[in-house]
Amino acid sequence: MKNIFFPVLIVFAVLFATACQTEQEAQLPKAPKNIILLIGDGMGVSEVYAGLTANGGSLNLEKCTHYGYSKTHSASGYVTDSGAGGTAISTGVRTYNGAIGVDTDSLPLKTILEFAEEKGLSTGLVSTSSITHATPASFISHQKSRNYYEAIAADFLKTDVDVIIGGGRHNFMKRADSVNLIEQLIQNGYAVKYDMEDVNSTESGKLFGLTADAHNPRYSEGRGDMLPEATETAVRLLSANDNGFFLMVEGSMIDWGGHANDIKYITEEMLDFDRAVGEALKFAEADGETLIVITADHETGGLGINGGDFATGEVIGGYTTKGHTGVMVPVFAFGPGADAFAGIQKNTDLFDKMMKLLKLNDDSSLQ
Ligand code: MG
Ligand code: ZN
Repeated sequence: MKNIFFPVLIVFAVLFATACQTEQEAQLPKAPKNIILLIGDGMGVSEVYAGLTANGGSLNLEKCTHYGYSKTHSASGYVTDSGAGGTAISTGVRTYNGAIGVDTDSLPLKTILEFAEEKGLSTGLVSTSSITHATPASFISHQKSRNYYEAIAADFLKTDVDVIIGGGRHNFMKRADSVNLIEQLIQNGYAVKYDMEDVNSTESGKLFGLTADAHNPRYSEGRGDMLPEATETAVRLLSANDNGFFLMVEGSMIDWGGHANDIKYITEEMLDFDRAVGEALKFAEADGETLIVITADHETGGLGINGGDFATGEVIGGYTTKGHTGVMVPVFAFGPGADAFAGIQKNTDLFDKMMKLLKLNDDSSLQ
């Protein structure tokens, strides 16, 4: 009899232990292994709603489960610029408008990308603008002014970032100091690619994709699916690291549509950004260990929506400025840790929360 029941008992014991473990795991707040931060430059609630209307009433970012707001003012202004706005999110410190990864004394601040790199995660930056422009620059560079594009480009060489895809080729190869940073990038082990076909065919390793001399063209002028494709490629390459990854993707030109007070420009860039969001969410849904955070550095244009039509996609907008505004911007989150982003928060809180969730600040030597 013993010989029959003993194996049965073992099976029950194992089943019971497995059930308990699963229950216990489900109760624990699951921390993400990876974070994909998507920044729509200039993307306020109105810009989101303009895109949603133009898309017939829905967007990919609606899959997010938790929502909040970010208070965007900088150390020097009620209204921020993208340098201070990006630096707040990348370093957790409010600084002056125009600053790139430095504090109000122009001293360098360590960015989440640098913390992640130090802990053995893979890192990446993707943007439709030049990769040396304020938003991506604030994650990797430390300069007194956002206008020091060539110095910002040189700062990329001081890091071990794994994947870069954006414009800005001239800042690396047609420089006032005549230094060809491309040669140095190749020496540092990067595959340097100049168009999206080559970028997308990269199978593994470190990638530096510079797909335009300066900024990539706006969507309606031939950029194609550069941003969603770059997002997919970056995620594919970065996710090869078992330690996890941090990726920032910027839809740079929602802001430019806002500056131009051009609703068509805003909506087409918003929809393009949302397609990149769709790629990130697709990966996160399948992966289960990836936190998606979608937000903006500030709103641009003071866009109000006075009318629209979901059937035709028409949006009627009005504006308060050709510049940025001071309003809170939305935060959307999905995946493990998403609940931390609900509610009203400071832009600098986004850094603190991402750092904590990726366990990047558990070293007392770090600030
Ligand atoms: Mg930007
Ligand atoms: Zn702007």
